[in-house]
Amino acid sequence: MGRVIAIANQKGGVGKTTTSINLSASLAEKGKSVLVIDTDPQGNTTSGFGVEKNDLDNTIYELILSECSIKECILNDVIPGVSIIPSNVNLAAAEIELIGVDRKEFILKREVEWIRESYDYIIIDCPPSLNMLTINAMTTADTVLVPIQCEYYALEGLSQLIHTVNLVKERLNPDLDMEGVVFTMYDSRTNLSMQVVENVKSHLNQKVFKTLIPRNIRLAEAPSYGQPINMYDSKSAGAEAYMSLAEEVINRKED
Ligand code: ADP
Ligand code: MG
Repeated sequence: MGRVIAIANQKGGVGKTTTSINLSASLAEKGKSVLVIDTDPQGNTTSGFGVEKNDLDNTIYELILSECSIKECILNDVIPGVSIIPSNVNLAAAEIELIGVDRKEFILKREVEWIRESYDYIIIDCPPSLNMLTINAMTTADTVLVPIQCEYYALEGLSQLIHTVNLVKERLNPDLDMEGVVFTMYDSRTNLSMQVVENVKSHLNQKVFKTLIPRNIRLAEAPSYGQPINMYDSKSAGAEAYMSLAEEVINRKED
């Protein structure tokens, strides 16, 4: 119970936030109770669930600085089955404010322990860098799920990311594992997408999800309506893909 998955890749624009929102909403549609933790100062996961991010008393920032309890910053049932710890631009200052704080790699983990058993899944959306927030996410997580955009530079930065996961595992969180790699913005009309998938598979000794997330305009539109894809357009290819990814995550046995 309470499986914690960090969605991480220090590259921006690869689909971390889109995956965090829509995997969470799809898990909820399958009857799971989900907490999403937004650790990106951009707060796009927060607004993607229709939450007005600049209008909040308590966010992940107050939590990290011990200015509120974890229960005080959770927004319950922003959609049925999904609660969220929101974020906004204030979080950008957290890294500085944590200078000199003892065991700052474990702040999120300590807080999440209080509520972990209340959810089936806790999905953490990471910022696009390997900073202290990402380290906190990986220290808290059971597994790391890495979205990879199907583009020419897909492999760039991946070895650094995997090195980081291994360092965290060695020094901070011995139980950390890879959930796997998921390909995003797959375009079946081009050879490039197919080549990227084959190339990454042959260079990376990682679990790869069978589900390919297609490039789908409905996925890009949904956040401006503050809705996950299964509410915005449940018949879209994007919605079907994220349901299938949720199915794989649920069926993935510890191995
Ligand atoms: P990250 O969180 O890694 O920076 P995002 O999830 O915010 O990436 O995605 C970057 C941009 O690409 C966003 O504008 C998003 O709407 C769009 N996008 C993400 N996944 C898809 C997809 N499968 N199809 C079309 N657009 C997508
Ligand atoms: Mg993001």
